[in-house]
Parts: sequence; C-alpha cells; structure tokens
Amino acid sequence: MAIEGYVDTQLLINGEWCDAASGKTIDVVNPATGKVIGTVAHAGIADLEQAVSAAQRGFEIWRKVPAHERAATMRKAATLLRERGQTIARLMTLEQGKPLAESRIEVLAAADIIEWFADEGRRVYGRVVPSRSLAVQQLVVKEPVGPVAAFTPWNFPVNQVVRKLCAALTTGCSFIVKAPEETPASPAQLLRAFADAGVPAGVIGLVYGNPAEISGYLIPHPAIRKVTFTGSTPVGKQLAALAGQHMKRVTMELGGHAPVIVAEDADVELAARISGGAKFRNAGQVCISPTRFLVHNSIREAFQQALVKQAQSIKVGDGLTAGTTLGPLANARRLSAMASVLSDAREKGATIATGGERIGSEGNFFAPTVLTDVPLDADVFNNEPFGPIAAVRGFDSLDEAINEANRLPYGLAGYAFTRSFSNVHLLTQRLEVGMLWINQPATPWPEMPFGGVKDSGYGSEGGPESLEPYLVTKSVTVTAV
Ligand code: NAD
Repeated sequence: MAIEGYVDTQLLINGEWCDAASGKTIDVVNPATGKVIGTVAHAGIADLEQAVSAAQRGFEIWRKVPAHERAATMRKAATLLRERGQTIARLMTLEQGKPLAESRIEVLAAADIIEWFADEGRRVYGRVVPSRSLAVQQLVVKEPVGPVAAFTPWNFPVNQVVRKLCAALTTGCSFIVKAPEETPASPAQLLRAFADAGVPAGVIGLVYGNPAEISGYLIPHPAIRKVTFTGSTPVGKQLAALAGQHMKRVTMELGGHAPVIVAEDADVELAARISGGAKFRNAGQVCISPTRFLVHNSIREAFQQALVKQAQSIKVGDGLTAGTTLGPLANARRLSAMASVLSDAREKGATIATGGERIGSEGNFFAPTVLTDVPLDADVFNNEPFGPIAAVRGFDSLDEAINEANRLPYGLAGYAFTRSFSNVHLLTQRLEVGMLWINQPATPWPEMPFGGVKDSGYGSEGGPESLEPYLVTKSVTVTAV
C-alpha cells in the first residue's frame, strides 16, 4: 500500500497495466526518510515471455504506421507529460530524492526530447544511388531494426528512458524497458503518457524485477534485435559481451570521470560557479558530473575558495521542502561509497576543505564536499564517486592537465575554462571525451550527440546519430524489364 501520495507501480504488458503473474513485489524506499513508500511489481520469466510476444506483435503494427503519424502520437505524449509534469515530478522526488525543481526540469526536458525525436523520425531518408545502367535503379532503404530491449538506471528515472524510447518509436521499433526498481513510479508515468497518447498495445512494454534475470532473458531472445543500456561500466561490459554472443546491436552509455580544466587565463568566478553548480546537481549522481578539478596553480587558491563558498551555500534537505538545493543520495549504497572514498582520500593525504560527512542519521544525506591537494592515487581520482564530492588538484602546464584528463579509461564528458583560442583548439583536439563543454555548463540538448569513448561506452543518445542504431540499411537494385 503506497503512502505519502506515492503510487504503487505495475508492469505494462500488451497495453495492460498488470501485477506480476507471481504477485511478487519489491519495496520502494524514500531516500529522504528511509521509509517504505510503496511497491513495484517484480516480473518473472512468465511475464517476460508475454512482454516479448507482445513486442513482436507490436513491431508488426508500429512499423507500418507512417512516420508522420508516429510523430503526431509522440507529440501527444509530450503534451500529456507537460500537463502531468507536477504530479510526476513529485513522484520522482519521493522515490529518487532530488529537489522538486530538478525533477520538474527533468520531466519538462523529457517533453522537449520527445518532440525533437518525433520530428527527427520524419527525416529518416533513404538514398537513390546513380547506377551504371539507365535500366537499373539503385535504392538504399532504411527500416526499423525490430523489438528493442532497454535497461535504465535510477539517477534520471525519466530522462534515461525517454531518449531510448523515442529513438525506438520514431524509427518504427517496438520497445521493452527494464526501468529502475528503486525509482519505478516516474518512468511508469512516462510510459503511461505514451500509452494514453495512443501508442498501440504491445509497442511499448515496461518491466521491473531482478536486473540480471531480465537481461539474461531478453538479450539472447531471438525476437530482440537491439540492446541499449545506461549504467556502470562493469555491468555494461557484461551486457555487451552477452549481446555480442547473440550478435545483437548495442548502445552503451556507461560511467564517466569528467575532468574540469581551469586554465591560467580562465574567469575563475565563472569556472567555480558553473562547475560547482554542475557538481552538486542531483547530488553528483550524474554520469557527466564534473569530478577531477584540474586548476592552474596560479589561480588554484582563488578557485578553491570560490568552490568551497559555493558548496557551503547549498541547502541540503528533503527534496520536497521549499528551498532545498541538494537532496539525499538515491540509495544507501551511495552513502557507504562516499564514506569509503572519503576515508581513502584522508589516508592518502588529501585535505577536506568542506563537507566530508553524512548529515543526520535518517535518510541518505551527505554534505557537499570539496577535497583539495588530492593525490593522483586517491580512489576519488580514479573511480567514479557518483556523489557530491569535488576533488581539486593543481597543474603547471596545460599539457600536464590534458595528460591527466586522458589518463583514466573513461571518456564521457569533459569541461574546460579558458579565454584563449589556442587553448580551446588544443583541448578540442586532444581531450579523449565524447562531449566537451567550454566556458559553460553541460547542455545535453537532444539535437546534439550524447555518448562516450573508451570505457564510457559507444553509440549516441542524441543528434541524428542516435537513430542509426535503430535502423537497418537495405540495398535494393532493380532492373527494368
Ligand atoms: P550497478 O552497477 O549494480 O547498477 C547500475 C544499473 O545497472 C542499475 O540501474 C541496475 O539495475 C542495472 N543493472 C545491474 N546489473 C544488471 C544486469 N545484470 N542486467 C541489467 N541491468 C543491470 O550499481 P548501482 O549501485 O545501481 O550504481 C553504481 C554505479 O553505477 C555508480 O557508481 C555509477 O558508476 C554507475 N551508474 C551510472 C549511471 C549512468 O548514468 N551512466 C547511472 C546509475 C549508476
């Protein structure tokens, strides 16, 4: 039984909202209170079998709907999402913890993403290729790849689903998502907006349960033609290997460890304000979160002071309380991860300039933290902390900073602050990242590619590039007789 205005979450299979065949559920906990606020249905193999057959039937229906009509239905879903934005945002804050204003932004951004993908699907062009004979016509035709299996995490419960869902729907694919068990209600509302907008039964499916059991069933299933995953690098590697065994296409959006390079000629106040704001958004549980702050030694002291001041101005609290700018961490695993990162940093000689501790004993609250003089071998400088910790280190030459930025196996986002064109040129050429933002915060608009290199994964979840993995290319050559 749900409490605090929360709703229990069911599965969506073949257009019906339903409990698991076994009746099993998983508890959902509010990270601000540690209390159970509701449940989510736990799908078993019987439910997954039904979801896959529905997706096969759904694909045969949806692929035949003209792109123009698919776009119109998607646009209706965007309108419904906007109308329901306030309610969905509240559910998200209750289950995930982020401040209500951030939840609202996430839901509204999802509506914008839907509209962009709806329109982009109308521009999936084939080609006519000049042939070697006037009697021959050579065509290149794009077709939807088939039913898609998606796996999404809890940090952006709606946003992580919407890009995958939209890329599938706009190209004519059907879609089953295993959304996050810890934050199930808000992504379910996203799927509901599509179902209510008129997406036919079977085209979209929603399941929750044991992640390994669900991926172990869906990825090898012959009906599933494409896999897309967002989450940690170790899990991504396992799923990509499984997909490889079954020759399935894969998009992987994995962990990051974003460097922030603040050059000698940077606007220090701007750099601290923008990168600090980005660091503490969603309590640092963001794959593109700035993490390694590499600051030229001539301005390091001033930068650190500005960053500490900013961290200390943050209001930590329940995301539903007015004025809160930093909510609790989304689950208790993050609290113990923060404790271990901090004790390692302390041991290795880093200075805790501010924060460094859990706040209170109820809920997963952790103080915004700035570490300075962080040695290169500290855990925080090597593994994604996925929490509200900024780690600062000085450098003397831009070359040194670029080498440090590229040292880790990750390559998702990078940030830099500089006024010099030659620095911009060098950073653009040499940083091994999928996305680079200079003198500004991240702006992951749907029209821009979104994805990483190296251990951060492959494929894109934005821009025209994001549709290609959902399409197969067919060459058709016809001779007139
Ligand atoms: P985790 O690695 O176990 O899980 C990450 C996500 O993968 C979860 O959504 C989980 O449900 C899913 N998952 C795990 N095993 C799976 C499997 N076998 N098949 C399908 N899905 C599976 O750990 P966690 O504690 O949830 O998160 C820890 C780390 O994950 C974080 O420190 C961060 O590095 C990474 N993470 C990254 C993102 C991102 O946006 N790239 C989001 C959430 C978590």
